[in-house]
Amino acid sequence: MIIRKADYLISNVDWQKCPPANKPEYAFIGRSNVGKSSLINMLTGRSKLAKVSGNPGKTQTINHFIINDEWYLVDLPGYGFAKVSQGQRRQWGKMIENYLRNRRNLACVFVLLDSRLTPQKIDLEFLTQLGEWQVPFSLVFTKSDKNTQLDTSRHVKAFLEKMREEWEFLPPHFVTSAVKGTGRDAVMDYIEELNIRFRAIAKGE
Ligand code: GDP
Repeated sequence: MIIRKADYLISNVDWQKCPPANKPEYAFIGRSNVGKSSLINMLTGRSKLAKVSGNPGKTQTINHFIINDEWYLVDLPGYGFAKVSQGQRRQWGKMIENYLRNRRNLACVFVLLDSRLTPQKIDLEFLTQLGEWQVPFSLVFTKSDKNTQLDTSRHVKAFLEKMREEWEFLPPHFVTSAVKGTGRDAVMDYIEELNIRFRAIAKGE
């Protein structure tokens, strides 16, 4: 996919104030510092679209971007940041739940996982939650350039095996590096495929 346009639109705490749900939408989420901003910038080819590691855990808004006037990219605040208060965490939880459960045009949530780590409870629990809410998601293993290929594939395999204990079907997964551009085409092809499906459904085909 060629990115002709990528613009920041709006930040909200209330899902009901999000832009009209008339375009397919892709949300990115993961633990703070997982490499979400870097991935968004790598995918869109815009080095400053999402802010990289300014003040982790601070942004507590649903951030909409519009790509090629055709689809929304949403940067969601990360979870698992130690320094946020209980109150902030509750607020985050409520905002994210309402958004994820109600946003009709949400085609896929990309859940980011650090490819250097063994399966983490906090990530598995978040996926269980998505499952309960019936939110479609895919996995993105980030920072693959920081590992040997063998370690990355070991960690991916371990995560999927862990998931299999609970899940009958495994979601699509991607391995990425924001530094090397790894996985960009695979993620973008997947988005394109879902965009086509979204348009067909919208037309009633
Ligand atoms: P966020 O908090 O999830 O948005 O994470 P950031 O995108 O701000 O990245 C956190 C840190 O990891 C920064 O220092 C990035 O430069 C670094 N980082 C992110 N992605 C990659 C990657 O693919 N490879 C490497 N080597 N570093 C990365």
